[in-house]
Amino acid sequence: MLPGRFPPVIMLHHVSDDAALDGHKPYSISHGSFTRLLDVLEDGQFTTSGFEDMNIPLHKRVIITFDDCAKHLWDFAIPELQRRNMKAVFYMPTACLGGTNEWDMPFGKPRIPLMNEADIKHLSDMGMEIGSHSHNHVRLGELRRSEVVQNLQQSKAILEGITGKKIISIAYPFGSIPGEKDNILKETGYAYGLSIYSAFENRYCIRRFIYHDGDDAARLKAKLSLRYKIMRAVNDKLLQLKSATPKK
Ligand SMILES: [Zn+2]
Repeated sequence: MLPGRFPPVIMLHHVSDDAALDGHKPYSISHGSFTRLLDVLEDGQFTTSGFEDMNIPLHKRVIITFDDCAKHLWDFAIPELQRRNMKAVFYMPTACLGGTNEWDMPFGKPRIPLMNEADIKHLSDMGMEIGSHSHNHVRLGELRRSEVVQNLQQSKAILEGITGKKIISIAYPFGSIPGEKDNILKETGYAYGLSIYSAFENRYCIRRFIYHDGDDAARLKAKLSLRYKIMRAVNDKLLQLKSATPKK
């Protein structure tokens, strides 16, 4: 599928001015950077939507996503979204509800408290969308098919139990895309899958871009453009071809 069929999807994790989280940069952004992002979206007259309202025709749509559901998002990011009447999609690894980011420990990253069931319910009730981030934040691309199916079913059932709503999208942890993703997602009842780097998109591997402290307003506007998406798709395809070329 050619780039452009899907709206720009922004991948965020942490929004904090606490220096203790600096070890997560570039996946942790400052309050100032988050404010800049929302200002650029407002000024550009973008509408923030989720995947559940993808069928509503919108002139300029953007989807803001948060992976991992860190508890500190309640301190600034969520109130700021609410104040501006903006929506985002929150991806929770269900085995980690009320726990911490154990998967980051081997990389020496700071430990962070994550949301619990009440947080997820509250987010959903206030109109934010909830998605799966697998059950236990694993690299789905490295699991057997039956394990992926079981993992996605379990996560979906837990989140639907908490929210009382259908869970229709998953963000693949580490951007690791499971083999046979199209069939597996259809089989387990997901309508969308989010990757990070994939040369060609379909609804089961929609690419996202990272927004970080180094992105000023001009760079962010460029990242929101279709031109950027096409350039990245071409670049990623070339990299794939290069890595597939046998070395002499
Ligand atoms: Zn994650």
